[in-house]
Amino acid sequence: MKNNFQEISLNLNVRGLPQSATLAINELSNQLRKEGKMIYRLGLGQSPFPVPQPVVDELKANAHQKDYLPVKGLPQLREAVADYHCRTHGICYTAEDVLIGPGSKELMFLLQYTYYGDLVIPTPSWVSYAPQALIIGRQVRWIKTNRKNNWRLSAEQLEEQCKDDETKPRIVILNYPSNPVGVSYSESELKDIAAVAKKHKIILLSDEIYGELHHEGKHLSIARYYPERTIISGGLSKWCGAGGWRLGTFVFPGNLNGRLKEIMAVMASETFTSTSAPIQYAAVRAFQGGSEIENYLWRSRWILKKISQIIVLKLSSVGLHVCQPDGAFYLFPDFSDVRESIEKKGVKTSSELCKKLLEDTGVALLPGSAFGRPDEELTARLAYVDFDGSRAISACKTFTNSDGIDEQFLKNYCGNILKAIDLICDWIKS
Ligand code: PLP
Repeated sequence: MKNNFQEISLNLNVRGLPQSATLAINELSNQLRKEGKMIYRLGLGQSPFPVPQPVVDELKANAHQKDYLPVKGLPQLREAVADYHCRTHGICYTAEDVLIGPGSKELMFLLQYTYYGDLVIPTPSWVSYAPQALIIGRQVRWIKTNRKNNWRLSAEQLEEQCKDDETKPRIVILNYPSNPVGVSYSESELKDIAAVAKKHKIILLSDEIYGELHHEGKHLSIARYYPERTIISGGLSKWCGAGGWRLGTFVFPGNLNGRLKEIMAVMASETFTSTSAPIQYAAVRAFQGGSEIENYLWRSRWILKKISQIIVLKLSSVGLHVCQPDGAFYLFPDFSDVRESIEKKGVKTSSELCKKLLEDTGVALLPGSAFGRPDEELTARLAYVDFDGSRAISACKTFTNSDGIDEQFLKNYCGNILKAIDLICDWIKS
């Protein structure tokens, strides 16, 4: 008897796509939770902080907005996003250069669909870039980074990748502070990468969704050094704690604005039509900034930085290699140096590592293989977000600097994370 699956004709591009690693870990977490086990959620990359109050107030005030908005976005929002980039990066754009979408992920998909070229990404990279390319039927060219360079792309590696065919159309995605490592690039490194991109006329998608969460507030956009073909990707999901609101932004340079942006807008008009109206009105307030939002951002950065420093110290003390991040809320520990003791637990791959760690300790991480690393390499992504961000941020409301955010503060407000890290350390030592 034929089963239903055989009768359904599937697009060849999606036929072999595996289930995401995030889902597998989530399913196991849910099952263990049901069995009464305490689960430490260091797998899912969601901001722990609340949406800033002025932005929430603006959403409430605009709940009645019910009309479809222009496909490229609410004009006031496009203007606020352009102003935001002038103010924060010193790169001047106009409202015309901005495209609004229901999350930057959707805009990335439209970009990959619209532009006919290979996708070049470093490994490790965020989980969705490569599957999007595969769904569309594009080639993915991975550039393998190493831990000596803090898992970052170098200008030399990019040059090497482009050598085979100088004229081939390509999109390169550079994401920093990065998911999964949390690292950023210095000004001179950005200049060097920009010079290679310019030489090969690469379309550079600079995914700066964690830019505002640079722990020192020192994010620099590569668009400064390669304005001709850099598209800046951003949105509300990470720095504004509003992942579920679904609002993303693309900012185009003048010369790509006409062709690429217009065709992406046509695609948008035939797929999602426009982004939710109340959310767009509220987003205007978020991009306008001001002191309340600045205070919120500084407190978020101080807390994230202190947590990351303590985790790096603790994990390094039991023999893991882990780089100190510059921003975002991720770490990318490498367990290779303690492979021997881990293999004794029957673990040989990054997926087995995460599964066993979850079963033994209740700590959920994501395997490095989900980010494009070889499965036999014992790397994993740790998202230090399992705490009540509203409580933590109000507890430091009156702080004028980060001095008060010490280990005791973290014990009081981010206790679960410290407990989870101690469990990982004990697991390695046991
Ligand atoms: N880029 C990176 C590196 C991310 O980590 C994420 C979300 O996790 C996104 C883009 C997508 O963000 P959104 O679609 O919510 O704007």
